[in-house]
Amino acid sequence: MTQASEKFAVDDRGYYGKFGGSYIPEMLYPNVEELRERYLQIMSTPDFKNQFDQLLKDYVGRPTPLYYAGRLSEKYGTKIYLKREDLCHTGAHKVNNTIGQILVAKALGKNKIIAETGAGQHGVATATVCALMGLECIVYMGQLDTERQKPNVERMKILGAEVRPALSGSQTLKDATNEAMRHWINNPVDTHYIIGSVVGPHPYPDMVARFQSVISAEIKTQLMAQEGRSNPDVVIACVGGGSNAIGAFYHFLDHSSVRLVATEAAGLGNDSGKSAATTALGNEGILHGSKTLLMQTPDGQIVEPYSISAGLDYPGIGPIHAHLFDSGRGEFVSVTDEEAMQAGILLSRSEGIIPAIETAHALAALEHMSFASDEVVVINLSGRGDKDLDTYIKWGKY
Ligand SMILES: *Cc1c(COP(=O)(O)O)cnc(C)c1O
Repeated sequence: MTQASEKFAVDDRGYYGKFGGSYIPEMLYPNVEELRERYLQIMSTPDFKNQFDQLLKDYVGRPTPLYYAGRLSEKYGTKIYLKREDLCHTGAHKVNNTIGQILVAKALGKNKIIAETGAGQHGVATATVCALMGLECIVYMGQLDTERQKPNVERMKILGAEVRPALSGSQTLKDATNEAMRHWINNPVDTHYIIGSVVGPHPYPDMVARFQSVISAEIKTQLMAQEGRSNPDVVIACVGGGSNAIGAFYHFLDHSSVRLVATEAAGLGNDSGKSAATTALGNEGILHGSKTLLMQTPDGQIVEPYSISAGLDYPGIGPIHAHLFDSGRGEFVSVTDEEAMQAGILLSRSEGIIPAIETAHALAALEHMSFASDEVVVINLSGRGDKDLDTYIKWGKY
């Protein structure tokens, strides 16, 4: 959980290069400032570390395996390892972060949790840890999203959370975010706002990256045991906001020999008007409290993103990824719906693992790249595909 990078660490003002910072309404300042002042100190206490490690082990099921995918390796003529975040409790990496943040919330003396969710995956991961800790949980979700993602709404309710539909605007994620912010402004003393990716005002991106960095810390140890070296040649991960990707990249950021490949959802294609590939289509602006790359109209209105995968359907990327793109340290690849779905079926058929459709975007990068036979490629398998069965069925080509 320590800051491993010299070159890509957040600076004192909360910036990664020219991206990041804290662009928030003045009314929110005390809440964010309290968190900024305390998060590193809280996370460095032995008590916090012990609880975090224990829960990751016994509750989440960490370390997740680093699995050598033999048949996939044969197909692509290289050595492919899958980091099995799909085997985490709740089926994806998101819980690594919500466990961390709920422990921070408790250390801050907060007894109520709010969150916003688009597809519902972060809402479920938040409702899960609130049930675990016995804290009250309110999840804001666009009204339209509650209709599109009914099973996750019911999951959150079963777990004891209250789901509040956001009725303003387009009734999707950004409206849910606005209402969650409003709630936090009105309840600063007893409430912590759990953000689900490496987005939002400083210190959220840094805090979330530290929690997810357990992924690359484990990769290093596991690769050493299996390959006799701790650095792979390539790490590939999909990027919505970018939390699973930065978790997988984190301990390799300063090792320039490790290629860091981020895949973005290109929907029906980057020229189609239906895409979510931020680095291909976006430019600099302010989104959810930080300066980053986002998809926007010339007058600064957010462009509604599109992807077949709900978790990648986000109009921006976290500021650290904007910096990785801008600096050239990260390679960003656009993957269409069709390519992702085919990659999902390929993994299912070749390894017996049905991936989340977000994750399938990372797998599809293999088709865009070529490798030497002795190269070691690690793909972060961010989540499992059970939640996406309806999408697989509708797509139908299997
Ligand atoms: C939410 C989600 C993502 C996208 O979020 P990041 O913050 O970019 O990691 C990717 N994969 C799965 C399985 C998810 O649930």
